[in-house]
Amino acid sequence: MPEATKKECIICGDEITGRPDKRFCSDNCRSTYHNRQNSDQTNFIRNINNILRKNRRILASMNTDGKTSLHRDKLMENGFNFRYFTNEYVTRKGTIYRFVYDQGYTERENGYLTLVVRQEYVE
Ligand SMILES: [Zn+2]
Repeated sequence: MPEATKKECIICGDEITGRPDKRFCSDNCRSTYHNRQNSDQTNFIRNINNILRKNRRILASMNTDGKTSLHRDKLMENGFNFRYFTNEYVTRKGTIYRFVYDQGYTERENGYLTLVVRQEYVE
């Protein structure tokens, strides 16, 4: 007689009885699992929001006169993360502006950027 494969609860490791597709031994373990998943998602979103907020703060603090020119290293030194922005705007000439909310920049030559504030370029 073949030995029945024992299934273990993915939360507590207890043996699962009943339907073969069950993943949890109890309602308690099921809700623990879903709560953990929710908090992972919340953390993921919170981390990205924090990066965006920090990026915006850096741009705003450097762009004191509404249109500032500086080297990208200056942003990196302050912890700016170039992979995160909220939207991209391409002008008719093909110039790409990346915005973090209202604060944006465009890359020029040799690593130099021009920082801008949104309403000048996006209608
Ligand atoms: Zn369990």
